[in-house]
Amino acid sequence: MKRRRAPIQTKPVAKTTSNVSPERSAQMARVRGRDTKPEMRVRRALHAAGLRYRLHAKGLPGRPDLILPSRRVAVFVHGCFWHRHPDPECKLARLPKSRLDFWLPKLEGNRARDERNKVALEALGWKIIEVWECQTKPEDLAKLAKAVARMPRAI
Ligand SMILES: [Zn+2]
Repeated sequence: MKRRRAPIQTKPVAKTTSNVSPERSAQMARVRGRDTKPEMRVRRALHAAGLRYRLHAKGLPGRPDLILPSRRVAVFVHGCFWHRHPDPECKLARLPKSRLDFWLPKLEGNRARDERNKVALEALGWKIIEVWECQTKPEDLAKLAKAVARMPRAI
């Protein structure tokens, strides 16, 4: 996940008027750093499948969370809310009911940047795997690791 911090509220918002669910508040309050839980789960699954990777490839567009240089595969682990998981079933990606004028451009900006990074990486010959936060159950990740292990080696 990208390094981005939850926006700091400049004005205190009374809790009673907020439509933000407790789940979402926790999500928003969490410091947006590296090594998030979903990211750690993905690493563990790949490692368990015998795959070796590098973290946070600085020189690449969008700084992928993981790269597998031998297969020229870049993996992004996206938080569903911040990166706007397009799955309509995804509960984590639901927009807040309040301050939509604030959230929507911000989140859409993230999504557009992800898209640009993807295009740029593909142009450099990388295959992109996007792992969404809501799809990091052990069985999901075991499947993913198997699929990655089957991908052809580039070098
Ligand atoms: Zn999701």
